[in-house]
Amino acid sequence: MNTIVVLGAGYAGMRAAKKLAHANLDARIILVNRHPYHYEATQLHQIAAGTKEPADVTFDIRKVVSPKVEVLIDTVTGIDQEERRVTLEEHEPLRYDYLINALGFESETFGIKGAEENGWPLVDIDTSLAARHHLEQTLANYRNSHDPNDLHVVVCGAGFTSIEYLGELVYRMPKLVAEYGLPADQINISCIEASPKILPMFSQKLVDWAVGYLKKKGVEFHTSTAITEVRPGAVISNDQEFKANTIIWTTGVRGNHVIADSGYNQKRNRVVVEDDLSLKDHPEEYLIGDISAVPDPESGRLFPTTAQISIAQADTAAANVIARVQGRPTKRFTFKSIGTVCSLGPHVGVAEIDMMGKWKLKGAVVGIVKKIVNDRSVLELANIRTMLEGN
Ligand code: NAD
Repeated sequence: MNTIVVLGAGYAGMRAAKKLAHANLDARIILVNRHPYHYEATQLHQIAAGTKEPADVTFDIRKVVSPKVEVLIDTVTGIDQEERRVTLEEHEPLRYDYLINALGFESETFGIKGAEENGWPLVDIDTSLAARHHLEQTLANYRNSHDPNDLHVVVCGAGFTSIEYLGELVYRMPKLVAEYGLPADQINISCIEASPKILPMFSQKLVDWAVGYLKKKGVEFHTSTAITEVRPGAVISNDQEFKANTIIWTTGVRGNHVIADSGYNQKRNRVVVEDDLSLKDHPEEYLIGDISAVPDPESGRLFPTTAQISIAQADTAAANVIARVQGRPTKRFTFKSIGTVCSLGPHVGVAEIDMMGKWKLKGAVVGIVKKIVNDRSVLELANIRTMLEGN
């Protein structure tokens, strides 16, 4: 009997396990994950801002995957491609005939001095909760310290995560101000971005609207400002200093460090895969999600690492493993985006949707779109939980 191992229970791994279970193969399917729960990575910014609780964005893996999938809770420490073996922190090594590797992302610091020590990343439930508690404690501390930097927040980078976090933060801040009795006019929220453009995937009109909305709520943007160092209480860009006792580090992501540790040919822990998503010279292994680097034939650039793409990759990888088990040829990965939504707090956002025509949306209507689809980037699926469930 074949053993198919799926590593990681993020969007990609959960979806792949679901598809494999539905195929009724005569195979053992094992899903390995560090935690017993799946978390919705697309909503971590809400945990960090305190507009959602962990229970709102997590669910028990065992409760939603098919009983045909064995769930093993452990941390992957390495992958031996030649021996077809996964090493784990707690359990004996796992041998596989087929591997779907979906180990996910980590925060990227680009080696910037002090970023790891002094910035709060938003990469999982624990780090997002830690960022939230730090923010709340620092704001609360102002009443004793009278340190103006306790009222200053710097958000590093202006990618999706930063902008969505800022949207939630400006939504919650008036409540925090009231709760802790803070001087509202001394709250300072800055966003520092290396590139001259913010949210480059959206049309300029939508970007202007989103930036205008956040500015009206008090966010200061500093574009073309590359962060060169992070110190306790200050972000440095060459000779500029931005003082803040809360520094949120959201300048981008890289793949899981296990990729480099296991000797893959990688860049920032992402591996360029074959067009059917398998690893070169290892057709039994598929890499999907944030560790996978897939060139987009249309743009010539790599596809971005989004939930929508991860799920599409999971469908292709699972179908290809099933095909190989059944002795059929594999198919190449193709992807057509159905749109992108960037929320600016719970009720407002900007969206470009490519479904029954091209739609450019802004404002509260985006909140409605979001409620209908119940996820920002996974637009084709009505409910993320249903989508990942095994039954
Ligand atoms: P990102 O790479 O999209 O954005 C990081 C930003 O930080 C970039 O604009 C970059 O120029 C900036 N930056 C990097 N180094 C810097 C420095 N030294 N100084 C100042 N600025 C710096 O990263 P992300 O926002 O973490 O998103 C990660 C991935 O997840 C992306 O592929 C994104 O598309 C995806 N995502 C999508 C959604 C959505 O669809 N709504 C939401 C969140 C994340």
